[in-house]
Amino acid sequence: MNNYQDEFTNMQEPYENNVGQAFLEPEFTGESPQACFPEPADTNSALTDGQQRSPESLVTFNAHGGTLPPGTHNPRWVWNGTAIGTLPIPIRPGFEFVGWWNGNTQIHANTVIWHNITIIASWWTAASITNGHLMHQRVVQQPQSLGHNVGNGDRAFANIDRITVHHSVSTSHTPSIQEVNNWWAGNALYHFLIRGDGSIWQLRPIGARLRTTLSTNANDRSIHIAFAGTFSTATLPTLAARNSFSTLCRAILGHAQLPNITLITHAVGHGDWEPNICPGFSTAQFRSWI
Ligand SMILES: [Zn+2]
Repeated sequence: MNNYQDEFTNMQEPYENNVGQAFLEPEFTGESPQACFPEPADTNSALTDGQQRSPESLVTFNAHGGTLPPGTHNPRWVWNGTAIGTLPIPIRPGFEFVGWWNGNTQIHANTVIWHNITIIASWWTAASITNGHLMHQRVVQQPQSLGHNVGNGDRAFANIDRITVHHSVSTSHTPSIQEVNNWWAGNALYHFLIRGDGSIWQLRPIGARLRTTLSTNANDRSIHIAFAGTFSTATLPTLAARNSFSTLCRAILGHAQLPNITLITHAVGHGDWEPNICPGFSTAQFRSWI
């Protein structure tokens, strides 16, 4: 019954490579009659294995450094050939939960179970700020291609207390770095650009006071985030872009090095500072995405 060891050995972490966590082999007490049948080596085919060897299977949750919600049954019995059902959402301070996985397969509530499996929580690490750049798995640094991007910038992080949201008013939702450079001759007017495919580009260090159309005061206080594209209340950013916006805002709002920017209400639109339709949709709307 040591095939669980193989499962752990073969497991690939999709987002996190160096977590320093040892996986604990789940302990089976021998109470379950089917705990000892061999698991197929290929976990993908195992998930759709139609051979019913036992009426129920055990699903073991490995929170991978996190904590399961109180009252979670672990392991969970599931009738073979039925969906696993609603999955628990574990908590891990400083990390963002990004789903349950079995090898390379993400497990959802509607995943059908045919045999015993262990599913493992995947986490994104909390962001850190290095040399003015937000270090997070979801944020791609684009500093070299754009001017004025070295160092932390020219303002203290303690002065930052607002996220100011824009749209780039470009036709493309997924502009290339070359296109982005051409927008302002390399002097980016946003700290972060969120593209339609959900990618997040950091264009300038957080500490950089940017030369936007806003008043000096607003610029001193703001981290500028732009959705790439042209939007209105009828034409919103893609779901992927909105989800990335949420991830980015939560990384900023929860960041220890940015102590004065902590609340969803600290996210405002360009149009909240001065008369302007930017970012095209309402402040209440984008706050609901965070
Ligand atoms: Zn704007």
